[in-house]
Amino acid sequence: MMNKTKPELLAPAGNLDKLKTAIAHGADAVYFGLPDFSLRLRVNDFSLSDIKKGIEFAHAAGKKAYVTLNIFARDKHLKKLRAHVLKLKEYGPDAIFISDPGIVAVVKEVWPTAKLSLSTQANCTNLEAVRFWGKQGFKRIILSRELSLKEITDIKKNAGKTEIEVFVHGALCAAYSGRCFLSDYFVGRSANLGDCSQPCRWEYEIKPKGHDKSLVIGEDMHGSYLMNSKDLCLIERLPEIIGSGIDALKIEGRAKSVYYLANVVGVYRRAIDLIYSGKSKKAVASELAFLRAELFEKLNNRGYTEGFMFPEGKDLQNYSGNNMLSPWEFCGQVISSTKTASGFELKVKAHNTIMSSSEIEIIGPSYQKASIDGKSMRDAKTKEPLIEAHGGGGGQVILIDSPIDWPTLSVLRRRL
Ligand code: SF4
Repeated sequence: MMNKTKPELLAPAGNLDKLKTAIAHGADAVYFGLPDFSLRLRVNDFSLSDIKKGIEFAHAAGKKAYVTLNIFARDKHLKKLRAHVLKLKEYGPDAIFISDPGIVAVVKEVWPTAKLSLSTQANCTNLEAVRFWGKQGFKRIILSRELSLKEITDIKKNAGKTEIEVFVHGALCAAYSGRCFLSDYFVGRSANLGDCSQPCRWEYEIKPKGHDKSLVIGEDMHGSYLMNSKDLCLIERLPEIIGSGIDALKIEGRAKSVYYLANVVGVYRRAIDLIYSGKSKKAVASELAFLRAELFEKLNNRGYTEGFMFPEGKDLQNYSGNNMLSPWEFCGQVISSTKTASGFELKVKAHNTIMSSSEIEIIGPSYQKASIDGKSMRDAKTKEPLIEAHGGGGGQVILIDSPIDWPTLSVLRRRL
């Protein structure tokens, strides 16, 4: 049974720019954390002061801010944790995502009234586990990615007041949601401490015991992808997922760029609003198919799967290659927009090469998009016309004309 209120859309944030972009494009909530205590260690630029700023920014925009403390900690981590939780208590995030009972104990001791959410890393796969964590004070459970929609629906129906959150988009692990030792084994970087080097995406060889030579397992010119999972994409299944009554839909990807966030958050925002718009099932299905095609064509991906939630197809693995490369490239982000006599002048920071002859698209909140004519492109300082702008060295700032007003943090892409 579909909830009267829309499910919350949660987006990842690997730094403050990503956090602001996710909110600008339609996220209801953002999640982020300090590198020491949260996953995605090497792609996480948050400092303690950024956490404070991120929470303040989200709250000023009327959105929720969640802080992740979801590593499986060693005692050395717990020693520093108390001081960190004291700071969080002062900053006031709306919830903390945790997977390790040791961290739960410390958070409860330092900040007993903190709202606790169980991280997917804890692999909660059944109703009794949901009830168990509920008794420990958890208000929300982020279910394991490995469940089917039928299992999720049954859990939600019987979970009482405990909120249920599920992943709908992003990378999948070949192992049980990150409980994997490949990276630790090969390069000493632990996935369970947020430092996975992604060996499931590597090429492999077979080495016979006692011999030096090895055999390349070759599937194509690049090698083999024995454990390379496709990316999760449940956009076309949202009506069924929302129909199960779940409370929150989550996007994976704290390592991903502002461009990725603008597209994925915008597409899911538009899809959720569409489902609640009262349009016919046929019209909704047709627009969701369009949005899925956009995600497939306009973003690099590993091929899409509907994962474990809809196991009928079981097409989880991408054996044929590592990446589907998009023919489009992120090229800029809007800094500001000024009204002119004939329309609007957009000030844009280039993130890659932009050519005046390029086919350019601009994407605003809720995946509203339009073509932009690059011929009006000029340098923001000299006002001289430009044939080419570049993203290197901090990114050239350019001006470009648009008949429509586009808000700050809209993104531009060009066809390669
Ligand atoms: S190596 Fe792959 S399967 Fe293992 S934790 Fe890392 S991303 Fe997941």
